[in-house]
Amino acid sequence: MTWQDDAGRDLVRSFGPRMAMFVRGEGAYLWDADGRRYLDFLAGIAVTSLGHAHPVFVEAVASQAATLAHVSNYFATPPQLALAARLKRLAGTGESGRVYFANSGAEANEAAFKLARLHGGVDRPRILALTQSFHGRTMGTLALTGKPALQQPFLPMIPGVEFIDSTANALEAAMDDRVAALIVEPIKGEAGVVDLPEGYLAAAREITQRHGALLIIDEIQTGAGRTGEWFAFQHAGITPDAITVAKGIGGGFPIGALVTFATASELFYPGTHGSTFGGNPLGTAVADAVLAEIERADLLANATERGAQIREAIARIDSPLVSGCRGAGLLVGVGLRHPVAKDVVLAAQARGLIINAPNDDTVRLVPALNIGDVEIDEFATLFADALAAVATQSTDRKDSL
Ligand SMILES: *Cc1c(COP(=O)(O)O)cnc(C)c1O
Repeated sequence: MTWQDDAGRDLVRSFGPRMAMFVRGEGAYLWDADGRRYLDFLAGIAVTSLGHAHPVFVEAVASQAATLAHVSNYFATPPQLALAARLKRLAGTGESGRVYFANSGAEANEAAFKLARLHGGVDRPRILALTQSFHGRTMGTLALTGKPALQQPFLPMIPGVEFIDSTANALEAAMDDRVAALIVEPIKGEAGVVDLPEGYLAAAREITQRHGALLIIDEIQTGAGRTGEWFAFQHAGITPDAITVAKGIGGGFPIGALVTFATASELFYPGTHGSTFGGNPLGTAVADAVLAEIERADLLANATERGAQIREAIARIDSPLVSGCRGAGLLVGVGLRHPVAKDVVLAAQARGLIINAPNDDTVRLVPALNIGDVEIDEFATLFADALAAVATQSTDRKDSL
């Protein structure tokens, strides 16, 4: 029996066949079960912010596990309060901010959905979300996700959500005083690292505020320093009513959070939401240590600089397949001129480089935030080889290249 046989028999079929079996990681590298080394430019989909087996992460898990792992939300713990205070400071909520802890991105967005309902009540049953958005796989977050194909097998959806195009005009046209909230990704990661139009967040802030609707920003993929600011909304200089975070804040430990601003912080009251695991001392100690290390090592600056370096390296490759780069900092979407992104991913893996394809014509690069220039040089060589191999295959197949 191979691991492929075991996986095919024992694991749920909602995921496609696993592409490799990884047994170990260190820094920017992964090793498979045959001892082969891979350069990891996916980082578990923007999750392992400090790379694999970083000493700060390892020490935080080990020492908190040996001290106190879990007590329930009947009680407070020092790591939980430390992380709440840190998230409030990094998000810039000021005194009036509050933090709800969850275990994943979807759970953070479920809390945001309930926040919108608490704000809207029966008078504001409408919630606006963007076409092509991704907010999670649970029934609530799927209802917020603007991808009909993902919703279709699970209809009917939770009512009240309407999808609009990502323009200020579409928002203005859809908005009225029956809208409870607008939820937005600052960069649509799962749609293929698609940027919002210039000025969209500022317009969205003005329009939602004018109508008394909440502006909720999903920072699950863009947060924790990935775009060069702690949270991507900070590039726009606005103040939202709530943000959701997960992925990179735990550095590989499953944790999510809803951070509320100003009066949105007063919407939840006792009995309206909860989670057994959410905010436990183990998860919060690890996330607090990961964020402290991102701060100490100034990985926001590294995300900006290395992101620019990756974009320059891709421009130098000069492949006929590449149309250009999208995203910000170390959230890079490489646009392709043909729907061969999955072939590029396989060609890269065959050469020892892990990347992924959020759609048919985009390759996503989301390495650890502490990635260095040696790894970027190595990436550039492997990625150029993979692109060249796919360009040749396509020509051989007499595709329209
Ligand atoms: C990954 C992601 C989610 C869902 O997070 P999970 O931890 O997989 O539930 C939600 N929103 C965005 C923008 C994401 O990238």
